[in-house]
Amino acid sequence: MLPFKLVYSDDYYLPIGAHVFPAEKYRMIRRRLLAENIAEPSDFVTPAAASDEEILLVHTPEYVHKLKTGTLSSFEEMQMEIPYSAELVKAFWLSAGGSILASRLALQDGLAVNIGGGFHHAFPDHGEGFCMIHDVAVGVKCLHREGKLRRAMTVDCDVHDGNGTAAIFPPRSRAGQPLPSAGAVQTGLRSAHAQLRDSSAGEVDVFTISLHQANNYPVYKPPSSIDVNLPDGTEDEPYLGWLEQALSSALRQFEPELICYIAGADPYEEDQLGGLALTIDGLKKRDESVVHVARSRNIPVMITYAGGYAHHVQDTVTIHCNTVIAAKEVLSRHTGNG
Ligand SMILES: [Zn+2]
Repeated sequence: MLPFKLVYSDDYYLPIGAHVFPAEKYRMIRRRLLAENIAEPSDFVTPAAASDEEILLVHTPEYVHKLKTGTLSSFEEMQMEIPYSAELVKAFWLSAGGSILASRLALQDGLAVNIGGGFHHAFPDHGEGFCMIHDVAVGVKCLHREGKLRRAMTVDCDVHDGNGTAAIFPPRSRAGQPLPSAGAVQTGLRSAHAQLRDSSAGEVDVFTISLHQANNYPVYKPPSSIDVNLPDGTEDEPYLGWLEQALSSALRQFEPELICYIAGADPYEEDQLGGLALTIDGLKKRDESVVHVARSRNIPVMITYAGGYAHHVQDTVTIHCNTVIAAKEVLSRHTGNG
């Protein structure tokens, strides 16, 4: 039995037909986790769909109305890059419910994995890049509303910039903090919208980190608290170095009560939509690194899956299953060390 829960539903499947997004990956991941005895049936918990009220903590009433009534414009549907249907709306409400549950379980148990979610390109008023609803933001705002969470950190390691996350949680000014060193990679602590956000008392404070390929979708990348714009072809070792530096810089500036780790499988060297060159081993080390940093500081961590478009879908499944294995191994090391 795993020392944490896996949030999953067969209905995470996205009814989008033949598409570069492997909508069947969630079911394949569950099957593999069970077949290889990585997890037992009792490790899985089934989420309820998010309520409209919960979705509205992040998304605008106009956008939610369009989704529920099937009245997106053809431009809006094109921008989402997945074909609209009422069933698809249901699947996204469910994945948001999954991230709410995973966030709650992470606070309770120290760690939880949503075998889905990570739809980081969804904005409050529109969907983009295969993402309709920003499940991670819904989870964060939901727990904040319940009085369980004041400060969260997103660590986005999908190959694509977390533009929706940055739009929903624009960086706040944290004066006097050191900048991470730049080197060949353009890294920066940004402080857009600082004054505005600092005056908004009572809001959840979210520190956002995005490690992504610079030359990739989206063209416009709104500033995160820390952006690491990686050059094409970045390999394991430099990637892991930048990740470590971003995490240590972030945690010098900010004390989160929850880390939301967006563990995209698409920095993989064989990815169809990515241009980085991480190996399957390197991606597992990446997962270990994030979980280790969180657990060594006693920060609960919730994990979501986001993208993954390997030429061979089984590679995407392996990378996502390895995230569960990495979490299990890091936790057992921490328990072993007392
Ligand atoms: Zn991606």
